[in-house]
Formats: sequence, structure tokens, C-alpha cells
Amino acid sequence: MIAVAKARQYLEELKLTQAAEVMESRLEAAAQKELPYAEFLVDLLGIEARARRERYLTTRTRLAHLPFHKTLEEFDFAFQPSIDERQVRELGTLAFVGDAANVVLLGPPGVGKTHLAVALGLRAIEQGYGVYFARAHGLVEDLRRAQAEHRLDRRLRVYLAPKVLIVDEFGVWPCGREGATALFALVSARYERGSIILTSNKGFAEWGEVLGDEVVATAILDRLLHHSHILNVRGESYRLREKRRAGLFGRAAGRSPEPATESAREER
Ligand code: ADP
Ligand code: MG
Repeated sequence: MIAVAKARQYLEELKLTQAAEVMESRLEAAAQKELPYAEFLVDLLGIEARARRERYLTTRTRLAHLPFHKTLEEFDFAFQPSIDERQVRELGTLAFVGDAANVVLLGPPGVGKTHLAVALGLRAIEQGYGVYFARAHGLVEDLRRAQAEHRLDRRLRVYLAPKVLIVDEFGVWPCGREGATALFALVSARYERGSIILTSNKGFAEWGEVLGDEVVATAILDRLLHHSHILNVRGESYRLREKRRAGLFGRAAGRSPEPATESAREER
């Protein structure tokens, strides 16, 4: 009994808290099954290791600020035939993160851009990479303010630290010239150092308009696209599919393009 108490004390000292908690019951079970010593150790340390990994994933996921929890396994590729499943599965290996390459997801609202960005982010967290999710509008506004207050360099560090930065909904709101230059500072600082996963409802030709400056737009695209994987999603909104089924849209209306504000409205 003294030995058991001592072992528990050691486990606690070593901060193997989960193992300390379950040691006595696992010890009893091991004795009952006449488990070899090594197998008892595997059992106990396995419980600690799994609990730690679970805690680590929970913390990293919380720090990433993801808007929801959706995985690649939950994505229905049959619904969106314009997406090359093989290309997405390849991205799912995260080789692109190792290369500090970017992923750009383009397409209308509701086609699964944020879902895929989040799913890749979750994969990255599982593999031990730091991930941070930000909406483009909030990020640009944050950087613009930092620049106006002469603390852009310090603020940029927040967005440079994670190996994977998700910039969602670029193009829904215009940036303004100062925001655009601040965004340029971010994209060039991350260039060849960390990945950006960017989603946008605007084609590249429209970026000048979004950023309020063609020259800055070209400079941003130059760095963003040099090492990049681009997915152009065409197709119907997954969100509206249920409503369509319920007959809320006429047959003709079901085929027509959706209002560009849909994503902004539903995700706020
Ligand atoms: P977007 O960012 O392109 O506007 P989202 O990724 O936010 O679209 O998708 C809208 C909703 O529909 C989310 O809840 C998402 O999980 C779901 N969704 C979209 N496409 C698919 C799909 N192909 N399979 C499963 N769920 C999907
Ligand atoms: Mg979205």
C-alpha cells in the first residue's frame, strides 16, 4: 500500500495527472488479469498520452478561433463536382504547409469554401502546426488601425506566428487604400515563411477594386500566388439546397445566382 501511495505521489510530481488518477484501478485490473509489467506500463502511459493529446488539441483548436468544427470527412464531394476531390485530399496531407505554399478558395457563397479552409486548419492542428482563423475584414481593419498608431510591426507578429493563417471572406467588404497596404505588409512578411488559406467570392480580376488600388492588388497577388494551390468552386449553395428541396425556390429561381450578401448575412 505504501508503494502504491508513493507511486501515485511520483506521478503527481511528474505532472502525469491522468495516470495518477487512474493508477490504482488500472493496477487492480492488471493484477486480476495477471498482466505482465510491461503491459501494465503501456496501459497506464497510454492513458496519460491520450489525455495529453486531447488537451493539446482542445487548446490549439480554441486558440485557432475557428468559426465551426467541420472536417474533410464531413465534406460531400458528390454535391460539388467542380471541386477536384483528389486535389483536396492531396492538400489534406499538408505538404503545402511544409512548402509554406498558399491555398486560395474562390467561389460564390455557400459552396463550402470556409468548410474546406476550416477542415485543412483542423488537419494542421492535428499535425502540430499553429493555426489562426480571421475574417479578412476584421484582420485588415486591425492592421490598418495598428499602422495608423505606428505599431504595425508588433501587431503583425500575431498573424505571422501561426504556420497556417486562414483569411476568410476576402472581397465581401472593400479594404480601402490604407488597409490594402497593411494587408500587403502581412502577405509579403508571410511569403515563403508560412501558409495562407484564403477564401474569396471575388475573382482575381476584381481584387484591384476590393483593395482600392490596382498596383497594391498586383503586388499582393504576385506574392500570394507564386507558390499556391487554387480551387475555383462553381456550383450551388449547400445552405440553400434544403430550402430548394422544400420548394421555397421555384425551379427557375433554384438555378439563378444567389445574392452576394448571403454569406455575410448568415455568418454574422
Ligand atoms: P462558403 O464559405 O463557401 O460560403 P461554407 O463553407 O460556410 O460556404 O458552407 C456553408 C455550410 O454548408 C457549412 O455549414 C458547410 O459545412 C456546409 N457545406 C457546404 N458545402 C458542403 C459539402 N459539399 N458537403 C457538406 N457540407 C457542406
Ligand atoms: Mg464562408
